[in-house]
Amino acid sequence: MLIKPSGVQRGLVGHILSRFESRGLKIVGLKMMQIDEALAREHYRDHVDKHFFDMLLQRITKSHVVAIVFEGSNVIQNVRTMMGATNPSQAGPGTIRGDLANSASLNLVHGSDSPESAAREIALFFADTELHNYERALDEWLVLEE
Ligand code: UDP
Ligand code: MG
Repeated sequence: MLIKPSGVQRGLVGHILSRFESRGLKIVGLKMMQIDEALAREHYRDHVDKHFFDMLLQRITKSHVVAIVFEGSNVIQNVRTMMGATNPSQAGPGTIRGDLANSASLNLVHGSDSPESAAREIALFFADTELHNYERALDEWLVLEE
């Protein structure tokens, strides 16, 4: 997932990360960077024909982002549920966008929407050496597959 420039500029990096960490998602990659236009175009290539594409490129490149790779069971769905609907006016209370944002173009976070897009996006943002494989002692209390 990405904490977008709106989240970085509003000083919400710690708060947003903390929500995911408290939920038990495991951080396996984490970096701050500024996305250039080429990377933005590649990242959002499925939206190239949308009316909001130019605004999207402008917003995502305007300042820095924090890119995070989480691991966990049902991680893609969990992250998207916690993010809330794209348009914050439709995002439920308790979600990041529902609690903290009020505009779709400044909706604070990006989350991959499928395993395929997650794999593609992770490869765009992270080298293999930046992804970490480690055990957490608490996992036996957080991740119990029934
Ligand atoms: N977006 C927008 N206006 C819209 C739809 C989307 O500004 O009407 C922006 C918004 O910032 C969103 C991003 O484009 O997060 C990507 O859109 P997508 O439909 O993939 O939403 P997401 O997966 O981020 O919820
Ligand atoms: Mg999307």
